[in-house]
Amino acid sequence: MSALSVANAANILAGLLFILALAGLSRHETSRNGLKFGIAGMALALVSTAWLVVKGADEAMVLVLLLVSILVGAAIGLWRAKVVEMTGMPELIALLHSFVGLAAVLVGWNGYLDHSTYGLESLDRIHSAEVAVGIFIGAVTFTGSIVAYLKLSARITSNPLMLPGKNVINAVSLVVFAILTVVYVRDPNVVVLAALTALALGLGWHLVASIGGGDMPVVVSMLNSYSGWAAAASGFLLGNDLLIVTGALVGSSGAYLSYIMCQAMNRSFISVIAGGFGVEGSPAEDRDYGDHRKITADGVAELLQNTRSVIITPGYGMAVAQAQYGVAELTRKLRDKGIQVRFGIHPVAGRLPGHMNVLLAEAKVPYDIVLEMDEINDDFDDTGVVLVIGANDTVNPAATEDPSSPIAGMPVLTVWNAENVIVFKRSMASGYAGVQNPLFFRENSAMLFGDAKDRVQDILRAL
Ligand code: NDP
Repeated sequence: MSALSVANAANILAGLLFILALAGLSRHETSRNGLKFGIAGMALALVSTAWLVVKGADEAMVLVLLLVSILVGAAIGLWRAKVVEMTGMPELIALLHSFVGLAAVLVGWNGYLDHSTYGLESLDRIHSAEVAVGIFIGAVTFTGSIVAYLKLSARITSNPLMLPGKNVINAVSLVVFAILTVVYVRDPNVVVLAALTALALGLGWHLVASIGGGDMPVVVSMLNSYSGWAAAASGFLLGNDLLIVTGALVGSSGAYLSYIMCQAMNRSFISVIAGGFGVEGSPAEDRDYGDHRKITADGVAELLQNTRSVIITPGYGMAVAQAQYGVAELTRKLRDKGIQVRFGIHPVAGRLPGHMNVLLAEAKVPYDIVLEMDEINDDFDDTGVVLVIGANDTVNPAATEDPSSPIAGMPVLTVWNAENVIVFKRSMASGYAGVQNPLFFRENSAMLFGDAKDRVQDILRAL
């Protein structure tokens, strides 16, 4: 059997393992097995690719390059995986997407520089079209992911960039891309390809820069989808079936996830993928909401002792403070006193889908008291105390009450309907979307300032 057919067989098996991985990851109970299938598929794909290179290598230099790149990549991957904080995962994922985009651009340019011809004009033209499309998707993914990384790591503001006529810029860029592609396919030319690359780099930057902080979860999953299509485009150029299959799996599952997230957040899918199309106006606001009320940990303990039902709505701040263990202990203590305690989880709380569920599971909070937003939103009316622990955008009434708010229309946890709302945070700063939160100024709200972990410990002591 030839080396190529063995590698092809291994690639088909790896593709199947990736499909099983996706199926497994779709449910809590099977997610561990899903991960194992994914790891096995990736290991098989790496071994088969390396083996194919080794078999076909006619110079020792090729082997040295292969070995060095595997070692460098593995060392960086292991180091990042070890040091990354849970709160830093989204920006790491965005950065990794940018690598896929960059690789697709390089593969595309390699396709241009490789002068081998198919000997048939129509096939050569298809090859040129693949080069143009591959570079375009890769470059958009590359710069888009870099901007997402900068926004998620707070290196640049998460407010949307509002260039005048931004929708026209995007539409014109797409038309120019189509024209450049036709010109390049008719006459492959370095200047046209360079112009196309520069255009795509600019468009990727502009698309993601134009999207506001509150929509970033959708952007991350959308870039995930783009990185899949970029990999698939590279697969066509390299004649690598596994890359095509894997890229298509990532591309389509990422697109579907983006679509579900848009539905959950009441956002238009087209608007988000088109860089906030139709969203005009600046989120900047300078409104006076009045005064806020402060409360001490002792005051909160007293409120808790005199209530029958408590709902805890955690957010990104709980992850930053690593307060989940204290929160779990508080939950146990209150339940021991016969108080009903439940958790309300917003679909985009934190910085990753499922972020809060992972933290609470880690701290051994029972699954059955952790409820989704839709399951708990009607119950706030009958609740004595809500503890908003490091959440902000996900409990912002402006989303439902202020049509001019940048987060207008996003479903939120309606915590303000409860009798008392205690907000744990360190200052009056706004949340990720950069929007002020009128909840803090309501009559039934009180602010418990400080690090969430310390304040939860103070309450535990007082109890
Ligand atoms: P937010 O990011 O809106 O707010 C978090 C709050 O936590 C801040 O206001 C901050 O206030 C407070 N905080 C930070 N550190 C601490 C600490 N140590 N102790 C106490 N409080 C702290 O959180 P939400 O979870 O409500 O919303 C998530 C936001 O992130 C949404 O806008 C969502 O769209 C976005 N997003 C979500 C992603 C996802 O997939 N889930 C991915 C990307 C973005 P202060 O500084 O005053 O303490």
